[in-house]
Amino acid sequence: MASEVPQEQWAQVISKTGGPIEYKKIPVAKPGPDEVLVNIKYSGVCHTDLHAWQGDWPLATKMPLVGGHEGAGIVVARGELVEDVQIGDHVGIKWLNGSCLSCDFCQQSDEPLCPKPDLSGYTVDGTFQQYCIGKAAHVARIPKELPLDGIAPVLCAGITVYKGLKESGVKPGQWVAIVGAGGGLGSLAQQYAKAMGIRIIAIDTGDEKKDMCINQLGAEHFVDFAKSSNVVKDVQAATPDGLGPHAVLLVAVNEKPFQQAAEYVRPRGTVVCIGLPAGAYLRAPVFESVVKMITIKGSYVGNRKDSAEAIDFYARGLIKFPFKTVGLSELPDVYAKMKKGEIAGRYVLDTSK
Ligand code: NAD
Ligand code: ZN
Repeated sequence: MASEVPQEQWAQVISKTGGPIEYKKIPVAKPGPDEVLVNIKYSGVCHTDLHAWQGDWPLATKMPLVGGHEGAGIVVARGELVEDVQIGDHVGIKWLNGSCLSCDFCQQSDEPLCPKPDLSGYTVDGTFQQYCIGKAAHVARIPKELPLDGIAPVLCAGITVYKGLKESGVKPGQWVAIVGAGGGLGSLAQQYAKAMGIRIIAIDTGDEKKDMCINQLGAEHFVDFAKSSNVVKDVQAATPDGLGPHAVLLVAVNEKPFQQAAEYVRPRGTVVCIGLPAGAYLRAPVFESVVKMITIKGSYVGNRKDSAEAIDFYARGLIKFPFKTVGLSELPDVYAKMKKGEIAGRYVLDTSK
Protein backbone atom coordinates (compact mmCIF):
# COMPACT_ATOMS: atom_id res chain seq x y z
CA MET A 1 0.00 0.00 0.00
CA ALA A 2 1.22 3.51 -0.75
CA SER A 3 2.14 5.38 2.43
CA GLU A 4 -0.29 8.30 1.99
CA VAL A 5 -3.37 6.06 2.23
CA PRO A 6 -5.13 6.68 5.56
CA GLN A 7 -6.66 3.96 7.73
CA GLU A 8 -10.02 5.75 7.89
CA GLN A 9 -12.11 7.89 5.56
CA TRP A 10 -15.45 9.69 5.25
CA ALA A 11 -18.32 7.81 3.64
CA GLN A 12 -22.10 7.87 3.26
CA VAL A 13 -23.40 4.56 4.60
CA ILE A 14 -26.83 2.96 4.80
CA SER A 15 -27.46 -0.05 7.04
CA LYS A 16 -31.03 -0.73 5.99
CA THR A 17 -33.03 -0.22 2.78
CA GLY A 18 -34.75 3.18 3.04
CA GLY A 19 -33.07 3.75 6.42
CA PRO A 20 -30.96 6.67 7.57
CA ILE A 21 -27.97 7.74 5.46
CA GLU A 22 -25.07 8.14 7.87
CA TYR A 23 -22.12 10.36 7.06
CA LYS A 24 -19.35 8.77 9.10
CA LYS A 25 -15.80 7.49 9.20
CA ILE A 26 -15.21 3.92 8.07
CA PRO A 27 -12.04 1.90 7.42
CA VAL A 28 -10.29 2.16 4.05
CA ALA A 29 -10.40 -1.23 2.28
CA LYS A 30 -7.28 -2.94 0.90
CA PRO A 31 -7.28 -3.95 -2.78
CA GLY A 32 -7.27 -7.64 -3.66
CA PRO A 33 -4.71 -9.06 -6.13
CA ASP A 34 -6.62 -7.92 -9.25
CA GLU A 35 -7.96 -4.67 -7.78
CA VAL A 36 -6.99 -1.03 -7.42
CA LEU A 37 -7.75 1.41 -4.61
CA VAL A 38 -8.97 4.74 -5.99
CA ASN A 39 -8.96 8.03 -4.10
CA ILE A 40 -12.33 9.26 -5.32
CA LYS A 41 -12.28 13.02 -5.84
CA TYR A 42 -15.77 13.46 -7.28
CA SER A 43 -18.81 11.24 -7.65
CA GLY A 44 -21.96 11.95 -9.64
CA VAL A 45 -25.30 11.04 -8.09
CA CYS A 46 -27.40 8.85 -10.41
CA HIS A 47 -31.07 8.05 -9.91
CA THR A 48 -29.95 4.41 -9.67
CA ASP A 49 -28.39 5.29 -6.29
CA LEU A 50 -31.77 6.54 -5.13
CA HIS A 51 -33.47 3.35 -6.43
CA ALA A 52 -30.85 1.29 -4.51
CA TRP A 53 -31.46 3.17 -1.26
CA GLN A 54 -35.24 2.89 -1.66
CA GLY A 55 -35.11 -0.81 -2.56
CA ASP A 56 -37.02 -0.18 -5.81
CA TRP A 57 -35.74 -3.20 -7.73
CA PRO A 58 -36.17 -6.99 -7.43
CA LEU A 59 -32.46 -7.39 -6.63
CA ALA A 60 -31.02 -7.16 -3.12
CA THR A 61 -28.16 -4.80 -2.24
CA LYS A 62 -25.32 -5.60 0.13
CA MET A 63 -25.73 -4.17 3.63
CA PRO A 64 -24.33 -2.01 5.06
CA LEU A 65 -23.88 -0.22 1.76
CA VAL A 66 -21.87 2.68 0.42
CA GLY A 67 -23.72 3.81 -2.74
CA GLY A 68 -22.39 5.60 -5.82
CA HIS A 69 -21.07 4.52 -9.22
CA GLU A 70 -19.94 7.65 -11.06
CA GLY A 71 -16.62 8.07 -9.26
CA ALA A 72 -13.57 9.78 -10.72
CA GLY A 73 -10.25 9.75 -8.90
CA ILE A 74 -6.62 8.71 -8.64
CA VAL A 75 -5.16 5.24 -8.13
CA VAL A 76 -3.34 5.11 -4.77
CA ALA A 77 -2.71 1.38 -4.35
CA ARG A 78 -2.94 -1.79 -6.42
CA GLY A 79 -2.90 -5.54 -6.00
CA GLU A 80 0.11 -7.64 -7.01
CA LEU A 81 -1.47 -8.94 -10.25
CA VAL A 82 -2.23 -5.47 -11.63
CA GLU A 83 0.18 -4.39 -14.33
CA ASP A 84 -1.53 -2.01 -16.69
CA VAL A 85 -2.86 0.50 -14.16
CA GLN A 86 -0.25 2.60 -12.37
CA ILE A 87 -0.30 4.42 -9.05
CA GLY A 88 -1.22 8.02 -9.93
CA ASP A 89 -3.36 7.09 -12.95
CA HIS A 90 -6.72 8.84 -13.23
CA VAL A 91 -9.54 6.31 -13.41
CA GLY A 92 -13.29 6.00 -13.09
CA ILE A 93 -15.36 3.56 -11.06
CA LYS A 94 -18.43 2.60 -13.08
CA TRP A 95 -21.64 0.72 -12.23
CA LEU A 96 -19.97 -2.45 -13.52
CA ASN A 97 -17.18 -2.66 -10.94
CA GLY A 98 -16.14 -6.07 -12.14
CA SER A 99 -17.28 -9.09 -14.12
CA CYS A 100 -16.01 -12.67 -14.43
CA LEU A 101 -14.35 -12.01 -17.83
CA SER A 102 -14.80 -15.67 -18.78
CA CYS A 103 -18.55 -16.34 -19.25
CA ASP A 104 -20.25 -16.40 -22.63
CA PHE A 105 -21.17 -12.70 -22.39
CA CYS A 106 -17.82 -11.46 -21.10
CA GLN A 107 -16.11 -13.36 -23.91
CA GLN A 108 -18.17 -11.38 -26.43
CA SER A 109 -17.47 -8.07 -24.66
CA ASP A 110 -21.07 -7.96 -23.48
CA GLU A 111 -19.85 -7.83 -19.90
CA PRO A 112 -22.87 -5.91 -18.51
CA LEU A 113 -24.74 -9.20 -19.08
CA CYS A 114 -22.27 -11.26 -17.01
CA PRO A 115 -24.28 -13.44 -14.60
CA LYS A 116 -21.84 -12.69 -11.77
CA PRO A 117 -21.24 -8.96 -11.93
CA ASP A 118 -19.93 -6.74 -9.12
CA LEU A 119 -22.12 -3.64 -9.15
CA SER A 120 -20.66 -0.49 -7.57
CA GLY A 121 -22.88 0.98 -4.88
CA TYR A 122 -25.12 -2.08 -5.01
CA THR A 123 -23.40 -5.46 -4.53
CA VAL A 124 -20.02 -3.91 -3.63
CA ASP A 125 -19.32 -0.57 -1.92
CA GLY A 126 -19.35 2.36 -4.32
CA THR A 127 -18.09 5.89 -4.74
CA PHE A 128 -19.83 7.82 -1.95
CA GLN A 129 -16.59 7.46 0.00
CA GLN A 130 -13.07 8.83 -0.32
CA TYR A 131 -11.38 5.52 -1.18
CA CYS A 132 -13.10 2.93 -3.35
CA ILE A 133 -12.03 -0.48 -4.66
CA GLY A 134 -12.37 -1.35 -8.36
CA LYS A 135 -11.35 -4.32 -10.47
CA ALA A 136 -8.33 -3.14 -12.48
CA ALA A 137 -9.69 -4.66 -15.69
CA HIS A 138 -12.85 -2.57 -15.41
CA VAL A 139 -11.82 0.85 -14.14
CA ALA A 140 -12.28 3.47 -16.86
CA ARG A 141 -9.05 5.07 -18.03
CA ILE A 142 -9.31 8.88 -17.78
CA PRO A 143 -6.77 11.10 -19.56
CA LYS A 144 -4.99 13.27 -16.96
CA GLU A 145 -5.91 16.58 -18.61
CA LEU A 146 -9.66 16.03 -18.06
CA PRO A 147 -11.39 17.58 -15.04
CA LEU A 148 -12.42 14.88 -12.57
CA ASP A 149 -15.64 16.68 -11.63
CA GLY A 150 -16.77 17.07 -15.24
CA ILE A 151 -15.94 13.52 -16.25
CA ALA A 152 -17.73 11.91 -13.26
CA PRO A 153 -21.27 11.96 -14.79
CA VAL A 154 -19.90 10.48 -18.01
CA LEU A 155 -18.97 7.32 -16.06
CA CYS A 156 -22.59 6.16 -15.81
CA ALA A 157 -24.93 8.66 -17.47
CA GLY A 158 -22.63 9.30 -20.43
CA ILE A 159 -21.69 5.69 -21.12
CA THR A 160 -25.30 4.54 -20.77
CA VAL A 161 -26.87 7.07 -23.13
CA TYR A 162 -24.07 6.76 -25.68
CA LYS A 163 -24.64 3.01 -25.73
CA GLY A 164 -28.41 3.53 -25.87
CA LEU A 165 -28.09 5.79 -28.90
CA LYS A 166 -25.95 3.18 -30.65
CA GLU A 167 -28.45 0.44 -29.75
CA SER A 168 -31.28 2.54 -31.22
CA GLY A 169 -29.71 2.50 -34.68
CA VAL A 170 -30.64 6.18 -35.16
CA LYS A 171 -28.58 7.77 -37.91
CA PRO A 172 -27.18 11.27 -38.45
CA GLY A 173 -29.94 13.61 -39.62
CA GLN A 174 -32.69 11.48 -38.09
CA TRP A 175 -34.74 12.32 -34.99
CA VAL A 176 -34.57 10.95 -31.46
CA ALA A 177 -37.05 11.70 -28.67
CA ILE A 178 -35.32 11.78 -25.30
CA VAL A 179 -37.83 11.14 -22.54
CA GLY A 180 -36.62 12.45 -19.16
CA ALA A 181 -34.40 14.90 -21.05
CA GLY A 182 -34.00 17.31 -18.14
CA GLY A 183 -32.38 14.80 -15.79
CA GLY A 184 -28.85 13.46 -15.63
CA LEU A 185 -29.03 10.80 -18.33
CA GLY A 186 -31.30 12.96 -20.46
CA SER A 187 -29.01 15.97 -20.47
CA LEU A 188 -25.98 13.93 -21.48
CA ALA A 189 -28.06 12.04 -24.06
CA GLN A 190 -28.77 15.33 -25.83
CA GLN A 191 -25.09 16.21 -26.03
CA TYR A 192 -24.11 12.75 -27.34
CA ALA A 193 -26.98 12.83 -29.86
CA LYS A 194 -25.96 16.29 -31.01
CA ALA A 195 -22.34 15.21 -31.39
CA MET A 196 -23.53 12.26 -33.49
CA GLY A 197 -25.52 14.56 -35.81
CA ILE A 198 -28.92 13.41 -34.55
CA ARG A 199 -31.85 15.83 -34.16
CA ILE A 200 -33.52 16.01 -30.77
CA ILE A 201 -37.00 16.26 -29.30
CA ALA A 202 -36.70 16.67 -25.53
CA ILE A 203 -39.54 15.51 -23.26
CA ASP A 204 -39.67 16.52 -19.59
CA THR A 205 -41.37 19.21 -17.53
CA GLY A 206 -40.80 22.76 -16.26
CA ASP A 207 -39.33 25.97 -17.65
CA GLU A 208 -35.86 25.45 -16.16
CA LYS A 209 -35.46 22.10 -17.92
CA LYS A 210 -37.00 23.48 -21.13
CA ASP A 211 -34.53 26.35 -21.17
CA MET A 212 -31.61 24.00 -20.49
CA CYS A 213 -32.62 21.54 -23.23
CA ILE A 214 -33.26 24.16 -25.92
CA ASN A 215 -30.59 26.73 -25.10
CA GLN A 216 -27.73 24.63 -23.73
CA LEU A 217 -28.04 21.01 -24.83
CA GLY A 218 -29.15 21.08 -28.45
CA ALA A 219 -32.83 20.05 -28.50
CA GLU A 220 -34.90 21.58 -31.31
CA HIS A 221 -38.24 20.92 -29.59
CA PHE A 222 -39.38 20.53 -26.00
CA VAL A 223 -42.61 18.76 -25.10
CA ASP A 224 -43.72 19.41 -21.50
CA PHE A 225 -45.40 16.15 -20.48
CA ALA A 226 -47.23 17.84 -17.60
CA LYS A 227 -48.63 20.70 -19.74
CA SER A 228 -49.30 18.92 -23.03
CA SER A 229 -52.86 17.75 -23.57
CA ASN A 230 -51.63 15.13 -26.06
CA VAL A 231 -47.98 14.08 -25.75
CA VAL A 232 -48.24 11.58 -28.62
CA LYS A 233 -49.53 14.22 -31.06
CA ASP A 234 -47.06 16.86 -29.91
CA VAL A 235 -44.06 14.54 -30.30
CA GLN A 236 -45.10 13.45 -33.77
CA ALA A 237 -45.82 17.05 -34.79
CA ALA A 238 -42.25 17.99 -33.84
CA THR A 239 -40.87 16.03 -36.80
CA PRO A 240 -41.20 17.81 -40.17
CA ASP A 241 -43.40 15.13 -41.81
CA GLY A 242 -45.44 14.49 -38.66
CA LEU A 243 -44.57 10.78 -38.62
CA GLY A 244 -42.61 10.87 -35.37
CA PRO A 245 -39.01 10.27 -34.28
CA HIS A 246 -36.89 7.40 -35.62
CA ALA A 247 -35.86 6.45 -32.09
CA VAL A 248 -37.01 7.02 -28.54
CA LEU A 249 -34.62 6.92 -25.58
CA LEU A 250 -36.62 6.34 -22.40
CA VAL A 251 -34.60 7.66 -19.46
CA ALA A 252 -37.58 8.77 -17.38
CA VAL A 253 -38.27 7.55 -13.86
CA ASN A 254 -42.03 7.07 -14.27
CA GLU A 255 -43.96 4.26 -15.93
CA LYS A 256 -46.32 6.32 -18.09
CA PRO A 257 -43.89 7.21 -20.92
CA PHE A 258 -42.94 3.52 -21.19
CA GLN A 259 -46.54 2.94 -22.19
CA GLN A 260 -46.69 5.84 -24.66
CA ALA A 261 -43.50 5.67 -26.71
CA ALA A 262 -44.66 2.91 -29.06
CA GLU A 263 -47.52 5.18 -30.10
CA TYR A 264 -45.42 8.12 -31.27
CA VAL A 265 -42.31 6.35 -32.57
CA ARG A 266 -42.03 6.40 -36.36
CA PRO A 267 -42.81 3.27 -38.42
CA ARG A 268 -39.66 1.07 -38.43
CA GLY A 269 -38.53 3.06 -35.39
CA THR A 270 -36.89 1.78 -32.22
CA VAL A 271 -37.85 2.39 -28.60
CA VAL A 272 -34.90 1.95 -26.23
CA CYS A 273 -35.77 1.45 -22.56
CA ILE A 274 -33.08 2.66 -20.16
CA GLY A 275 -34.87 4.15 -17.13
CA LEU A 276 -35.83 1.70 -14.41
CA PRO A 277 -38.94 2.97 -12.57
CA ALA A 278 -39.98 0.76 -9.65
CA GLY A 279 -42.41 -2.04 -10.51
CA ALA A 280 -43.01 -0.68 -14.02
CA TYR A 281 -44.26 -2.57 -17.05
CA LEU A 282 -43.90 -1.84 -20.72
CA ARG A 283 -47.08 -1.64 -22.74
CA ALA A 284 -47.53 -1.26 -26.47
CA PRO A 285 -50.57 -1.66 -28.71
CA VAL A 286 -50.08 -4.91 -30.66
CA PHE A 287 -51.83 -3.60 -33.77
CA GLU A 288 -49.68 -0.47 -34.18
CA SER A 289 -46.51 -2.32 -33.17
CA VAL A 290 -47.08 -4.86 -35.93
CA VAL A 291 -48.23 -2.62 -38.75
CA LYS A 292 -45.57 0.01 -37.92
CA MET A 293 -42.90 -2.73 -37.61
CA ILE A 294 -41.42 -1.13 -34.50
CA THR A 295 -38.64 -2.47 -32.27
CA ILE A 296 -38.72 -2.21 -28.48
CA LYS A 297 -35.55 -3.09 -26.59
CA GLY A 298 -33.62 -2.57 -23.37
CA SER A 299 -30.14 -1.07 -23.03
CA TYR A 300 -27.97 -1.49 -19.95
CA VAL A 301 -24.86 0.63 -19.28
CA GLY A 302 -22.03 -0.19 -21.74
CA ASN A 303 -18.98 -2.37 -22.11
CA ARG A 304 -15.39 -1.23 -21.63
CA LYS A 305 -15.08 -0.12 -25.24
CA ASP A 306 -18.31 1.91 -25.06
CA SER A 307 -16.92 3.48 -21.89
CA ALA A 308 -13.65 4.44 -23.55
CA GLU A 309 -15.52 5.89 -26.55
CA ALA A 310 -17.90 7.89 -24.34
CA ILE A 311 -14.91 9.34 -22.47
CA ASP A 312 -13.22 10.15 -25.78
CA PHE A 313 -16.26 12.17 -26.95
CA TYR A 314 -15.91 14.18 -23.72
CA ALA A 315 -12.14 14.53 -24.18
CA ARG A 316 -12.69 16.01 -27.63
CA GLY A 317 -14.84 18.77 -26.10
CA LEU A 318 -18.07 17.52 -27.67
CA ILE A 319 -19.97 16.90 -24.41
CA LYS A 320 -20.88 19.90 -22.24
CA PHE A 321 -23.63 19.66 -19.65
CA PRO A 322 -24.64 21.52 -16.51
CA PHE A 323 -23.76 20.05 -13.14
CA LYS A 324 -23.74 21.40 -9.59
CA THR A 325 -21.02 20.43 -7.14
CA VAL A 326 -21.79 19.98 -3.43
CA GLY A 327 -20.01 18.16 -0.61
CA LEU A 328 -20.27 14.40 -0.05
CA SER A 329 -21.92 15.26 3.27
CA GLU A 330 -24.89 16.73 1.36
CA LEU A 331 -26.00 13.49 -0.32
CA PRO A 332 -29.36 13.32 1.55
CA ASP A 333 -30.32 16.78 0.21
CA VAL A 334 -29.46 15.67 -3.32
CA TYR A 335 -31.69 12.59 -2.93
CA ALA A 336 -34.53 14.78 -1.64
CA LYS A 337 -34.31 17.05 -4.70
CA MET A 338 -33.98 14.09 -7.07
CA LYS A 339 -37.06 12.42 -5.62
CA LYS A 340 -39.08 15.57 -6.36
CA GLY A 341 -37.72 15.77 -9.93
CA GLU A 342 -36.10 19.11 -9.11
CA ILE A 343 -32.64 18.45 -10.55
CA ALA A 344 -31.92 19.89 -13.98
CA GLY A 345 -28.77 18.08 -15.12
CA ARG A 346 -26.56 16.32 -12.55
CA TYR A 347 -25.24 16.77 -9.01
CA VAL A 348 -21.61 15.90 -8.38
CA LEU A 349 -20.27 15.28 -4.86
CA ASP A 350 -16.87 16.60 -3.79
CA THR A 351 -15.52 13.93 -1.42
CA SER A 352 -13.28 16.43 0.43
CA LYS A 353 -16.32 18.18 1.94
P1 NAD B 1 -32.97 11.94 -13.00
O1 NAD B 1 -33.80 11.95 -11.77
O2 NAD B 1 -31.77 12.82 -13.09
O3 NAD B 1 -33.88 12.29 -14.28
C1 NAD B 1 -35.12 11.68 -14.52
C2 NAD B 1 -35.95 12.68 -15.33
O4 NAD B 1 -37.17 12.03 -15.75
C3 NAD B 1 -36.36 13.92 -14.54
O5 NAD B 1 -35.91 15.09 -15.20
C4 NAD B 1 -37.89 13.84 -14.53
O6 NAD B 1 -38.51 15.12 -14.57
C5 NAD B 1 -38.17 13.04 -15.78
N1 NAD B 1 -39.50 12.45 -15.86
C6 NAD B 1 -40.27 11.96 -14.86
N2 NAD B 1 -41.45 11.55 -15.35
C7 NAD B 1 -41.44 11.79 -16.68
C8 NAD B 1 -42.40 11.63 -17.72
N3 NAD B 1 -43.61 11.12 -17.49
N4 NAD B 1 -42.05 11.99 -18.99
C9 NAD B 1 -40.83 12.54 -19.22
N5 NAD B 1 -39.90 12.74 -18.27
C10 NAD B 1 -40.21 12.37 -17.02
O7 NAD B 1 -32.54 10.41 -13.23
P2 NAD B 1 -31.26 9.82 -14.00
O8 NAD B 1 -30.11 9.76 -13.06
O9 NAD B 1 -31.12 10.51 -15.29
O10 NAD B 1 -31.72 8.29 -14.23
C11 NAD B 1 -32.84 8.01 -15.05
C12 NAD B 1 -33.21 6.54 -14.98
O11 NAD B 1 -32.23 5.77 -15.69
C13 NAD B 1 -33.25 5.94 -13.58
O12 NAD B 1 -34.37 5.05 -13.49
C14 NAD B 1 -31.96 5.17 -13.48
O13 NAD B 1 -31.99 4.11 -12.55
C15 NAD B 1 -31.86 4.66 -14.89
N6 NAD B 1 -30.51 4.24 -15.32
C16 NAD B 1 -30.43 3.16 -16.14
C17 NAD B 1 -29.22 2.74 -16.63
C18 NAD B 1 -29.13 1.59 -17.56
O14 NAD B 1 -28.03 1.10 -17.79
N7 NAD B 1 -30.23 1.14 -18.16
C19 NAD B 1 -28.05 3.43 -16.26
C20 NAD B 1 -28.16 4.54 -15.43
C21 NAD B 1 -29.41 4.95 -14.97
ZN1 ZN C 1 -26.05 5.33 -12.90
